[in-house]
This record gives sequence, C-alpha cells and structure tokens, in this order.
Amino acid sequence: MIIDCHGHYTTSPRQHEAWRGEQIEAHKAGKPLPPRPPITDDEIRQSIDGGQLKVQRERGTDLTIFSPRAAGMGHHLGDATTSEAWASACNELIHRVCSLFPKNFIGVAMLPQSARVSPKNCIAEIDRCVNEYGFVGVNLNPDPSGGHWQDPPLGDRYWYPVYEKMVEYDIPAMIHVSMSCNPTHHTTGAHYLNGDTAGFNQLMNSSVFKDFPAIKFIIPHGGGAVPYHWGRYRGLAQDAKLGLLSELMLNNVFFDTCVYHLPGQELLAKVVPIDNILFASEMIGAVRGIDPETDHHYDDTKRYIDQLPLSAADKAKIFEGNARRVYGRLSAIIEKQFAR
Ligand SMILES: [Zn+2]
Repeated sequence: MIIDCHGHYTTSPRQHEAWRGEQIEAHKAGKPLPPRPPITDDEIRQSIDGGQLKVQRERGTDLTIFSPRAAGMGHHLGDATTSEAWASACNELIHRVCSLFPKNFIGVAMLPQSARVSPKNCIAEIDRCVNEYGFVGVNLNPDPSGGHWQDPPLGDRYWYPVYEKMVEYDIPAMIHVSMSCNPTHHTTGAHYLNGDTAGFNQLMNSSVFKDFPAIKFIIPHGGGAVPYHWGRYRGLAQDAKLGLLSELMLNNVFFDTCVYHLPGQELLAKVVPIDNILFASEMIGAVRGIDPETDHHYDDTKRYIDQLPLSAADKAKIFEGNARRVYGRLSAIIEKQFAR
C-alpha cells in the first residue's frame, strides 16, 4: 500500500470557504455568526472524484491522510469562538469525505487555535475527532498569528496540554503553519518552510522528548531547510550538549517527502534516517504545475522516491511501514474503514 501522509481538502465545495468569509465578516461587524450552508454528499463526491481521488489513481497511490486546507485554517482571523466553529466545520467535512471514500482517505484534524489563546481550548476538538471521527492525527500550527510568531516556542509548557492528548491517543502532530498575514513571508514560498524549520529547531532545543518519550511529530515539506542544513543542526546539538542529533530525534521526529525535485529527495534520503521519512505529496496543493525538465507534475513525488537508489524494503518503509508506525491508530482505522 502507498500511503500519502500529507493531503488537504483544497477542492472543497465553494460554499464551505464562502461561509468562512461570511463568518469573519460577521465577527468584524459584531453580528451573530451565520448558519452553516448545506453541502450535499454529491457535491463532496464531485469535488473528490475530479480532484484528489483522480490524482491518486493517476499516480498509483492508495490512501491519503487527509486534513482541512492548511492555508485556510487562518488562525490569525477572528477569535477563539470563530476558530472553534471553523475547525468544527472543516473537520466534519473531512469526516464526511472519509465516510464516502473509506478506502482512500483517513482523517487528520485541524485545531481551533488562535494567537495567544492557550491551546487547552483544542482538547475538546481533539477528543471529538479521535473518538467520533476516527482521525489519526492533528495539524499543530506553531504560529497561529500567521507570520508574526506571538506564541511561545513548541518546547514551552504552554503546548503541553496538546502533547498530553497526543500521547494519550497515540496520535502524531504535523507541525503545519497556515496562511501568512505578514507580507514579508509568502505563505507557501517562505512561511511554510520557515514554520517547518523553526518548529524543528524549537523542539530540538527543548525537553519535550524527555517529558514525552513516545510523542511523535512530522515536519512537513521535507523538513523545510533542516535536511539541507543537517550539519548545522548536528553541530548546534553538539555545542549545546544535546547528544547526537539522529539519536535525539530518532523516535520522535519524522520528515515527509513533499519535496518537488529529485535532487531534494536524494538529499533527504541521504541525510535523514530512512526510518524517519514518510511518503507524502500534498497534491493539489501549493505547486500545481508541470516541471518542463521532467514533463511531470512537480508534486508527483512518488516518481522521485521510485528513482532513489534504495532497497525495496527501505522504499516500503517510506511508502507504508513508517506511516503505520508513526500514526499509531492508522492500521486499526484502515482495517475498520476497509471493512465498510
Ligand atoms: Zn500541507
């Protein structure tokens, strides 16, 4: 099985995102939040059939670990109340996709975060998504301010309520920022990669892995700048007497393969232990074009993994085995959803 651990519902029916716009306008005007629009199963089917499912089939992947659109999370907009209503609507929609296509999608939750609001307010949504929806992970935004970094670093106890839940449920968090509202940080060209890099570095310099030995984080987009600068981080870890970087991270930090050219994948597979790499494409995402150098989509990342000089056993780890290990509930949910 080929499991893509990083997909977002970027093709959701139009009225879903339109409602978000109305919701934020109402909040600004001090008016009550508008009721959620009806979305039919057929509208969801259409959006998936012609979208992510089509691409899965074309590229020969089997299952996508699927979450709400990341840039759409917009944790800097509105307040804790609007974030809660929006996260709830987005997660419910993901649950509906997974119910309609149980063999192709398994859910991951976005959290109702807001800048400078304790992430304690995310616990109820995590409970609901795991217990009622069968979701297998969460996306944790290290910068709910959208590019202004107003919350404490991920090593701070501020985040521990979420970490306690992650360990309790055996669900990993993908460290994933949302839209940038800081014009100096382009959302997908800078802010995402900054978020990945900063998130890794914050965790590396913390006692999170000592306090939560079983906790697991996925750093998306190939780990931002981290693999390219592996020597820098190894050296920083050494200077700070943190021990060997590979040992420090081995059980707790994983990198996905959302890297959109072969040389980048080669580097990732060369410097990061194979056990810490999870296949992902984030397809129908940030980069949708075709690479004139290969005549294939930039985000068709399976092609790059296929070309790596790795054993079949190692590729199987990247494509499936590591995901089943990192998402502790995944195998059970696959069995449950496939039995439908
Ligand atoms: Zn993403």
